[in-house]
Amino acid sequence: MQFADGVERLRAERPRLEFGAAWDYAPAPEATDHLRLDGRYGLYIGGRFVEPKSGRWFATINPATEEPLAEVAEAGEADVDAAVRAAESAQRRVWGRLPAAERGKYLFRIARLLQEKAREFAVLETMNGGKPITEARDVDVPLAVAHFFHHAGWADKLADAFAGRAPRPLGVCGQIIPWNFPLLMAAWKIAPALACGNTVVLKPAETTPLTALHLAKLFDEAGLPPGVVNIVPGAGETGASLVNHPRVAKIAFTGSTEVGKLIQRAVAGTGKRLTLELGGKAANIVFADAALDQAVEGIIRGIYFNQGHVCCAGSRLLVEESIAEDLIARLDWRIRSLRVGDPLDKNTDVGAINSRAQLEKIRELARAGVDDGAVMHQSDCALPGKGYFFPPTYFTGVAQSHRIAREEIFGPVLAVMTFRTPDEAIEKANNLPYGLSAGVWTDKGAKIFAMTRRLRAGVVWANTFNKFDPASPFGGYKESGFGREGGRHGLEAYLEL
Ligand code: ADP
Repeated sequence: MQFADGVERLRAERPRLEFGAAWDYAPAPEATDHLRLDGRYGLYIGGRFVEPKSGRWFATINPATEEPLAEVAEAGEADVDAAVRAAESAQRRVWGRLPAAERGKYLFRIARLLQEKAREFAVLETMNGGKPITEARDVDVPLAVAHFFHHAGWADKLADAFAGRAPRPLGVCGQIIPWNFPLLMAAWKIAPALACGNTVVLKPAETTPLTALHLAKLFDEAGLPPGVVNIVPGAGETGASLVNHPRVAKIAFTGSTEVGKLIQRAVAGTGKRLTLELGGKAANIVFADAALDQAVEGIIRGIYFNQGHVCCAGSRLLVEESIAEDLIARLDWRIRSLRVGDPLDKNTDVGAINSRAQLEKIRELARAGVDDGAVMHQSDCALPGKGYFFPPTYFTGVAQSHRIAREEIFGPVLAVMTFRTPDEAIEKANNLPYGLSAGVWTDKGAKIFAMTRRLRAGVVWANTFNKFDPASPFGGYKESGFGREGGRHGLEAYLEL
């Protein structure tokens, strides 16, 4: 693809100062002195932080500096059992008996407290997860707050939401979440469960337990009755103990397709309810009639902000052949202006990769792209000397059979392919076992509707990307999972109807 000529043309056409990379911004670091970290965090069971019966602790680090932030207790099987029993007792004696409007009041209180502490949570999310402070501040925390507000409102309206049926809680919900949106995923899972009268045992991801543990402190402050929410950090083994516990009525899981399949097998035949939100490989489809600069911003938001650590990331770009050269030139220019570095700096666009293991996975898949014969283009931005970073990258000359076009990469890496007709775009977009999300960029409303009907994806964004709302159900097709989170659909997963 001759996009290099296009880049030169664009540079000549656009005034030099339009190139972000031409500017050196002074650092604008977010302060961290208001954040009080404990040296050690126990397990949160029955409304108290307790020592783990497992006797095991692990260090949690800041992936941007590789420095430890705190020690966290690891829950073993006996700890998970204690948490499930605390949740069961709280459900039977307190939470399940509360008038629904009272449950709503607790959720409203949690939402308000979280809003008041937004800055503390944003900074902590950035330090433990590596995402830019602007993302944590403007996306993760406000959306987490919105989820608590939204579900607070549902608590006493369940009978109206499911008219003619008798909605009842399920009991204890085991919830397992990943590291890419640690606080937001906790809110997505806890808020609807509580609104519906269930109690919760939540397992955060092993690399990002801190915001969930600070949420536990906030629950205390809100006066939430002990045992209604329990938090048990740990890795896969802890998750498996929760999945296999006989007193758990429902498992809600967000994570990899591989682990999702393991869980589905473990739950089969037990009568436990299950929702899975798994991997994705979204196609972002750009037609020739689209507003190209806006599309470029959407592509950037879809895969580079947040380091591509998003299961619905737009990691495949399908661009109509007639504008491919032009679009790729603009994209190339924009990618090279992205600022990669200190996630606490308010100028940073692309922060740290969440862990060394994830960085290795991204490197390995990028190497596979080159080995398969695609052409790799990378921003030549300087990377910090410490911490886990990967430069914004895209591939041209990609075939559908290449691994970079088929496998979830979970990093700032885009696979660019072209199409000539809408049918071909649909064919290529749907041609994977995943079906979580997709994007369509076009000036024509009719084309948007025609495409969205045929795309096998749980969410399709039109002329935008990665927009969320608690009222809008989110979830996948095929190997991206089943069940929906958010809105009225999301409540069904937490109710016996
Ligand atoms: P990711 O690639 O997003 O890290 P994983 O599926 O590995 O996805 O992790 C998502 C969550 O699932 C994490 O909280 C992890 O600890 C947990 N987990 C990993 N293995 C298992 C398992 N066998 N059973 C239950 N939970 C697991």
